[in-house]
Amino acid sequence: MRGARNAAPHDISCRQARGQATRSAAIRPRSNSFSVSLNPMQDATLLLSSKLPKVGTTIFTVMSALAQKNGAINLGQGFPDFEPDDRLLDRVSAAMRAGHNQYPPMAGNPLLRQRVADKFASVHGVRPDWEHEVTITSGATQAILSVIMAVVRAGDEVIVLEPAYDSYVPNIELAGGRAVPVGLRPGDFRPDFAAIEQALTSRTRLVIVNTPHNPSGRIWRRNDWDRLGEILASRPVFVLSDEVYEHMVYDGESHVSAGAVPALSGRSFVVSSFGKTLHVTGWKLGSVIAPPALTAEFRKVHQFTVFTANSAMQQGIADYLGDPAPWQQLASFYQARRDRFLAGLAATPLRALPCEGSYFVCARYDEVAAMRDLPEREACEWLTREIGVAAIPLSPFYSAPTEQRIIRFCFAKRQTTLDQAVARLASLCSMGGTSSR
Ligand code: PMP
Ligand code: GLN
Repeated sequence: MRGARNAAPHDISCRQARGQATRSAAIRPRSNSFSVSLNPMQDATLLLSSKLPKVGTTIFTVMSALAQKNGAINLGQGFPDFEPDDRLLDRVSAAMRAGHNQYPPMAGNPLLRQRVADKFASVHGVRPDWEHEVTITSGATQAILSVIMAVVRAGDEVIVLEPAYDSYVPNIELAGGRAVPVGLRPGDFRPDFAAIEQALTSRTRLVIVNTPHNPSGRIWRRNDWDRLGEILASRPVFVLSDEVYEHMVYDGESHVSAGAVPALSGRSFVVSSFGKTLHVTGWKLGSVIAPPALTAEFRKVHQFTVFTANSAMQQGIADYLGDPAPWQQLASFYQARRDRFLAGLAATPLRALPCEGSYFVCARYDEVAAMRDLPEREACEWLTREIGVAAIPLSPFYSAPTEQRIIRFCFAKRQTTLDQAVARLASLCSMGGTSSR
C-alpha cells in the first residue's frame, strides 16, 4: 500500500496528498475500519471499512508460531514434515530447464488437465472432459474463493456444515452472501440431513461439503451424497465439494466424489489439491472439476484472480502423474501413520475420535485434569507450552462460540516425530489422567 509502510494498522498515513481527496470534513473512524489520513496538513481522512471485520490471523498460523516459539512438536497446522518424492522434484526442475517458465494456458497445462481427468476416471469410473471440465488452480484455497465468487451473489445464502474449514465463511462474505451454518452432528460429525433441509430457503444458492473432512476425519459415503441429491433435486442450488483429502481414506473404504454422483454431478464443483496429494502444500496447486457451463463461469473469475497457475510445477506434476503409484499408495502410507499415532494416543489420557480419512485425528481432553477446565484454544496453548506438542482447537471451525473439549492433531509427520509427540503426551498421565489401555 503506497505511503503506508510504517503506519500502524489502524492509522495509515498517506504521505501523497491528492487534490481531490483533501476535503476537510474528516470521515469518522468506526471500529473495524481503517482511517486513512489523506493529507496530514488538512485533517482529511478516508475510511476503509473492513469487509472482514471478524477475521484475524488464522488459528493454523497462530499455533505454528506458538509451536516454534516454544520448541514444540507441531501437530497443529496440516502439512507434512517430510520431503516430497525426489522424482517429483526432478520433474519440476527438468520442466524449468525445458522452458516451462512463461504463462501456461489460462485453464492450465493441457497434459496436467488430462492427467486429472484420467485420475478421476480411474478412481470414480466417470471421465471428465479435460478441455471443458478441468481447470488448474493456485491451490484449493483459490479454487474455493473463485467458485464462491462465480456462484454467490449479494444476498444469497450458502449452507456451511460446521465444523468447517476457515476460508469458507470469509469467502462467502466477500461475495456479499450470507453463510448459514448447519452443525454436523455433535459427537460423531455426521451430516444431519433434516437440519440441512430445514436450512434451505429460496435464497440458498450453494451448499459446501468437505469429505474427507477437516477437522473431524469423517467421510461422506454414497448414501450421504444420495440423500443430499434427493434434498436438492428440485432446487436451484449448487454444490462446492472440497475433496482435498480424496486419496486419504482408510480401512478399505473408498472416497466418493460429488462429481461421480448422478444426482449431483451436474451442479457440483469438485475441488482437489496437489499440495495434499503430493506432499507439497507450499506449492499451492489444485484443480476444479465441474460441468462445462459451470467451468466457463468459474474460469471467468479464475482468469481475473490469478489468470493461471505456476507453469513449471504444472508440467512437472503432469509428468510425475504418468505413474499412478504415488497417489494410489497414499491411503496405506497415511493409514500406517494414523495407526501408529492412535496406538500411541491410547497410552495417554486423550481419547481419540474415529478417523476415516484426511490426515487429522481429533481427541477429547475431558479426562486430562490439567486441561479439562480450559476452553479448547487455551488447552492447545497449554499443551504447546507445557507438554511441547501443538494441536488445533475445534472452536475456530465454528461461527458461534462452541466448546466441546476436542482438539485436532495432524499425523502427516515422520514416524519419529509422531513417536516423540506421543512420548510427550504420555506425560499427561502423571497430571491427573489415565491411559485408555
Ligand atoms: N480445504 C481444506 C479442507 C483444507 O484442509 C485445506 C488445507 N489447506 C484447503 C482447502 C486448502 O488447500 P490448498 O493448500 O491447496 O490451498
Ligand atoms: N489446511 C491446513 C489445516 O487445516 C492449514 C492451511 C493453512 O494454514 N491455511 O491445518
